[in-house]
Amino acid sequence: MSIAKEAFEKLYPEKTLKYKLSLKYSAKFKPYNANVKKYQRIIEFSLSPKWKEVSPEIVIGLIQVLLIKLFKTKKHTINTDLYNSFIKNLHISIPKEHSDPILLESFNRVNEKYFYSLIEAPNLKWGSHSRRELGSYNYHTDTIKVSRIFLNSGNEILDYIMYHELLHKKLKFQGKSARNYHHTSEFKVEEKQFENYPEMEKRIAELIRKSRYRSFLSGFNQ
Ligand SMILES: [Zn+2]
Repeated sequence: MSIAKEAFEKLYPEKTLKYKLSLKYSAKFKPYNANVKKYQRIIEFSLSPKWKEVSPEIVIGLIQVLLIKLFKTKKHTINTDLYNSFIKNLHISIPKEHSDPILLESFNRVNEKYFYSLIEAPNLKWGSHSRRELGSYNYHTDTIKVSRIFLNSGNEILDYIMYHELLHKKLKFQGKSARNYHHTSEFKVEEKQFENYPEMEKRIAELIRKSRYRSFLSGFNQ
């Protein structure tokens, strides 16, 4: 029996399989990424080749998580629990390849002030000049990316963005269903612990407005 079929049957023992399941590995994916597509009667799973090195019980959990997303059902199994703890602990085994002196200093300040220096440094990268995505934390690659609009914004604002992303690393995601809630109420409570929280929100809104104006000017000059 194929691993995809096994995953389906363990997840929906009461259902009969009306689809042809196919599973392929694609080197285009970043480590541990995966997706699922459904055509009429075919469900196709595409996985990063990294999954070949992972225990089949965990891969079954991954396939089940993809099926749960596809069918929008709320369910969890031993395998989806295994998968979730695998993803949560992935950062430990991920080599740290990217860092940056400004971001690392910010990380060290925030880690010391708010997390008793207990958080292990993630990969740190500057992103594009995005005003929409100010920062992000990628669980799969253990990477914090900060928008370049904060490059010269001063330590306080940068640290606030860093704090938000480190909270994602600390709290991971919650809930046993496949739908993970990143900004949980627990997250929001902790986020407000940042010094001058309301002031920070205002300053960021202002910075975004200004950078919009500036990018308009530079576009105009070209
Ligand atoms: Zn967030």
